[in-house]
Amino acid sequence: MREWMGMYPEELKQALTQLGEKPFRAGQLFQWLQKGASFDEMTNLSKDLREKLKTEGIDRPVTVREERISTIDGTRKFLFSLRDGNCVEGVLMRYHYGATLCVSTQVGCRMGCRFCASTLDGCVRNLTAGEMLGQVQCANRALGDERVHNIVLMGSGEPLDNYENVVRFLRLVSHEEGLNIGLRHISLSTCGLAPKIRQFAEEGLPVTLSLSLHAPTDEIRKTIMPIANRYSIQETLDACKYYLKKTGRRIVIEYALIDGVNAGMAQANQLADLLRGMQCHVNVIPLNTVKERKLNGVTENQVKEFLSTLEKRHISATRRREMGDDIEGACGQLRKKAMQEDRA
Ligand code: SAH
Repeated sequence: MREWMGMYPEELKQALTQLGEKPFRAGQLFQWLQKGASFDEMTNLSKDLREKLKTEGIDRPVTVREERISTIDGTRKFLFSLRDGNCVEGVLMRYHYGATLCVSTQVGCRMGCRFCASTLDGCVRNLTAGEMLGQVQCANRALGDERVHNIVLMGSGEPLDNYENVVRFLRLVSHEEGLNIGLRHISLSTCGLAPKIRQFAEEGLPVTLSLSLHAPTDEIRKTIMPIANRYSIQETLDACKYYLKKTGRRIVIEYALIDGVNAGMAQANQLADLLRGMQCHVNVIPLNTVKERKLNGVTENQVKEFLSTLEKRHISATRRREMGDDIEGACGQLRKKAMQEDRA
């Protein structure tokens, strides 16, 4: 079965020609698909063509299995179903500058970060570009009149470990004839696959690159992130600087505070040394504790101290707001519950 939604207009043109259809229909079909329409809604295409499309492939690769809305801040958490029975999570946050959707790029993850729930059962498979687009379309439907305005690739999965599909998704979601979401409104978060960061810099896709650094030294980083055994912090930051040079986009450094591991004043100072002179912004995140992980978060005071140390050293840093605290906003929890239900 083809996944029509993940195809570029030129590819649709070719496919339609093979089906004995007029190639100019590709433009109409592309617009419908990118809007998230079902075959039955594509009323300016002949019934005959719609039947052919149905026989050959699928229209909507993603549906909403469960949705929770926070009574505190209106954050919505989705559990999305894929056609093969797998599911992934998405979170929709309302900010004053527009609705922001956190999109998953893989079912699970194989990076093995010790604090993260998404990686507990490894990586099941990559998502296709259509499955990433499908998450945005589901969120748009849930929003009614409003539209997803910003995207962060921060759901389950390591985007640069699913490189081709993620690049295809970025080109499609920003396509003028499609959802047309500006690349400057999109962030890609990575645990730091240095060579892929360099490759990504060449794509001409000026998205914001977020690096999940979480430690100021290789020694500490290796204790919480296996990827640190493959690429040193220096190699990774050099790749980020290359990305900055190529795209002009300031790098965001993500840093989750874990008690007794990376959250002391000494580490704040080491981090300031490391980032001195680099055009970047640090997002300090209080750790979301995950039941299966033996790592502890920090107190409000520790967060403040860490931030003020960075500030004194003239490193631009803010605390990331936590949202949807009452709806298991923390990554991976909803999917885990559903998997347990499915097994039962
Ligand atoms: N694989 C990508 C994107 C997915 S995770 C990456 O590593 O960046 C999105 C962000 O959430 C990353 O910065 C990740 O390190 C962070 N994260 C994962 N589990 C967390 C937890 N329990 N508490 C706080 N942040 C967490």
